Amino acid sequence: MRVFVFLCLCACATTPAHGTWSDRTLAASNDGVLCDHRVPERACVKHHPGLEGEFKRVGDWCGEHGVPESQCLLCHPDLTFQPLPVLPASADVRWLAGTGDAIGPLETHAVPGKVTVVDFYADWCAPCRKVDAFMFELVSRRSDLALRKANVGSWETPLAREHLRDVPTLPSVVVFSAKGKLVKRVNGLDLPALQAAIDEAWR
Ligand SMILES: [Zn+2]
Ligand SMILES: [Zn+2]
Repeated sequence: MRVFVFLCLCACATTPAHGTWSDRTLAASNDGVLCDHRVPERACVKHHPGLEGEFKRVGDWCGEHGVPESQCLLCHPDLTFQPLPVLPASADVRWLAGTGDAIGPLETHAVPGKVTVVDFYADWCAPCRKVDAFMFELVSRRSDLALRKANVGSWETPLAREHLRDVPTLPSVVVFSAKGKLVKRVNGLDLPALQAAIDEAWR
């Protein structure tokens, strides 16, 4: 008898340890060219079968669907490789430390006089890309808004241990008022709640 166990990797946002998600696919998305498989053409294994071994070697492979985990739209229907809006030089956006590095107390990153949004994200988190699209657009036209991005890496990093102990899922976004007061933390993708928190911080 064959016992069939389906290990759901699509909950990668909460259990990334179950799947190895390389940044190989996302790194190929910079030129914005998507193939008819809706993935970055340069990294598509259906177009470039020679890449298969490379993905399998780093464990970035969905055996169920025969594509890299980081390209599997069946396991990750939210996945999007659409290029992010280009940030103007005036946009106040900074990445805090390196991937997974501790960043110290959050309030020290609140920018005086601006509403500050600290965005905890990971490259394997598809919904996080939607926060990027939303925030990049907003921070491009508001000079009284600052965006600070923190790449979590995995749930095992110093950064995750420091700030995500009680956070069940990514993205996790923290909003500070212009006076540096914590207004709200929004866990999981909830753009209306994020917009409401920013509006409240501006009031
Ligand atoms: Zn393709
Ligand atoms: Zn799959």
